[in-house]
Amino acid sequence: MPYEVKSLNEECGIFGIWGHSDAAQITYFGLHSLQHRGQEGAGIVANDGGKLNGYRGLGLLSEVFKDDRLLLSLQGSAAIGHVRYATCGNGSVDNIQPFLFNFSNNSYALAHNGNLTNAKSLRKELEQGGAIFHSNSDTEILMHLIRRSKQPTFIEQLKESLRAVKGGFAYLLLTETSMIAALDPNAFRPLAIGQMKTGAYVIASETCALEVVGATFVRDVEPGEVIIIDDNGYHIEKYTEDTQYAICAMEYIYFARPDSNIAGVNVHTARKNMGKRLAQEAPVAADMVVGVPNSSLSAASGYAEASGIPYEMGLVKSQYIARTFIQPTQELREQGVRMKLSAVRGVVEGKRIIMVDDSIVRGTTSRRIVQLLKEAGAKEVHVRIASPPLRFPCFYGIDIQTRKELIAANHSVAEIEQLITADSLSFLSEQGLIDAIGLNFDAPYSGLCMAYFNGDYPTPLYDYAEQYQASLREKISFA
Ligand code: SF4
Repeated sequence: MPYEVKSLNEECGIFGIWGHSDAAQITYFGLHSLQHRGQEGAGIVANDGGKLNGYRGLGLLSEVFKDDRLLLSLQGSAAIGHVRYATCGNGSVDNIQPFLFNFSNNSYALAHNGNLTNAKSLRKELEQGGAIFHSNSDTEILMHLIRRSKQPTFIEQLKESLRAVKGGFAYLLLTETSMIAALDPNAFRPLAIGQMKTGAYVIASETCALEVVGATFVRDVEPGEVIIIDDNGYHIEKYTEDTQYAICAMEYIYFARPDSNIAGVNVHTARKNMGKRLAQEAPVAADMVVGVPNSSLSAASGYAEASGIPYEMGLVKSQYIARTFIQPTQELREQGVRMKLSAVRGVVEGKRIIMVDDSIVRGTTSRRIVQLLKEAGAKEVHVRIASPPLRFPCFYGIDIQTRKELIAANHSVAEIEQLITADSLSFLSEQGLIDAIGLNFDAPYSGLCMAYFNGDYPTPLYDYAEQYQASLREKISFA
């Protein structure tokens, strides 16, 4: 998995199923294929004839459910689950989802992927109104809004609450009689519906999870939609008409699994196209193309194909290094890179290398990989990045909320080239990225969020507006 290599992390992955006798087991398999979206904690809640039971814990899914009896104890024909990477809230088990709420008249379980931009103000307002929060994560806010709503039905209460929360969100709710999914008005995060041969419906953050459990893709959840699944099938409602696609470009570049499709575009194909376009935009004479495993291999193969320069395995990644539980500091993450990646001397010695990577965050990892190749005898290392420079913070579910952590925020491409000790450095252009992904929505950037690259945020930033202004004044230094 690439996620220890970069200090760039997705918030979470969600999965749910309605109408299958092995609901919790299938949810486990679905979450397993979404593990790349969060490794800090996992949980599953099952619906056993209207009674909701759950289990959650810290760590990888397989660590949380290592005792088989835990999964077996979650009986019932519906379940939702969550894998977490914390962008808000601390790392305690109280913040691991799904959250289970038992009220005198009803029970609900709730899981969330994304980041709310008005969470602070809503929380303050709710607390002033008497609400008591059990966790410090954003997710609980929706449930408090639902409980406060005076609308006559649960769905109307939910829709009113969804109109109040802002930012990037994909929610999955399990009630005593239904499973409900909702997506933000920009569809920042992917969310797909599938159906199993048995007729059971499945909802997942990425389509790779549908494949893994043997479900057929039905459709993507669209911005502003609420999907209600119960024993009568599924139906779709909208909670707002004020929608505009702004799918997170980083999903295509780095986060999502290559076997997933987002809005009909296969992630591997998009990455390969980014590599092809990069070869056209930034050609260089060299003996071979080497991709940084694993997330850059698709882009590297595209670069090789378009340039006619052979693709070689000049870097290998050990699959068998014990994973340290959580790697909270940059130093430990980089130590992880050193342990995991090696340059193949027999391949790279005396050669001019084009090293393709998907993105540069702090730059320290790129410098380390360039040095690995040079120590192994590479004559030249030309770095080609299959995305534009990351210059602005993200407030929609990625844990980079300050420009301090982004080398391209305060250094020119020529400076970065020097800092990472590359013989040359080029990034994919913004238009190149948009064309490579090839979305066709009637929206800015063809329906992509490009804020990370150009600071053009598709929504107001609400509680983050000040933080954003402050981040523009920050200066970073390359350590
Ligand atoms: S700012 Fe970047 S990471 Fe955040 S949603 Fe937009 S494209 Fe994705």
